[in-house]
Amino acid sequence: MDNCIFCKIVSGELPGYKIYEDEYTFAFLDIAKDIDGHTLVVPKKHCRNVLDADDETLAHVAKTIKTVANHYMSLGYDGINILNANEACAQQTVFHLHFHIIPRKNDDGVSAWPKLECATADLEEMWNKLKMI
Ligand code: AMP
Ligand code: ZN
Repeated sequence: MDNCIFCKIVSGELPGYKIYEDEYTFAFLDIAKDIDGHTLVVPKKHCRNVLDADDETLAHVAKTIKTVANHYMSLGYDGINILNANEACAQQTVFHLHFHIIPRKNDDGVSAWPKLECATADLEEMWNKLKMI
């Protein structure tokens, strides 16, 4: 897709620190330099986020997340956070589907899981609103 930075990294038009590639997916280092090893996994096919991705694309991305995460574990990491944002209000800033892989070490002091203390509704209220069955 024109003007999509992740499409341009996949095609080689923009540089990227490639970690892994297969027919459907691509993984590369995030340039944020916020956490060592911060990696992004994207589909080669452009889609905006999880909400509009077709099931096959999502399955390919999930497989690559697992492959890369297990590779990092084999290099000596102790755990992995997998993060994803969908739409601007959820803090998505690049609108090409991507998952963040954050390799973790015991006692690394990183807090990759935000402390959320914003709930106002009680559980029964939310259950009645959200349940699908
Ligand atoms: P999100 O906020 O979930 O949409 O994440 C977008 C991520 O893309 C951020 O962590 C950025 O640091 C990263 N990013 C933006 N431009 C590039 C780039 N050219 N190469 C690698 N990562 C990038
Ligand atoms: Zn794209």
